[in-house]
Amino acid sequence: MIACKQVAKALAEHRYYELPWWRRIPMFVHIRLCVMCGKYHAQVVDMQKGVKNYLEHEEAGDVDPAYHLSDEAKERIKEALREKE
Ligand SMILES: [Zn+2]
Repeated sequence: MIACKQVAKALAEHRYYELPWWRRIPMFVHIRLCVMCGKYHAQVVDMQKGVKNYLEHEEAGDVDPAYHLSDEAKERIKEALREKE
């Protein structure tokens, strides 16, 4: 589990969607599980995803598959967490 400070630092210095998956997954898990900073960072991440979606939509004029991927990723994370319990 990464620390709140690491999440805040990463989000302050980078856009969520520009981070490599191996940095995003622990951040995503932390944001989902952490009561302290989860609410705030979930908003930041959603907002940044929204920006990405808009940019892609604008560029391609197409539906953004990132939302489907993120749903799938959410399920995978849930599964992974269940297995550890
Ligand atoms: Zn936290």
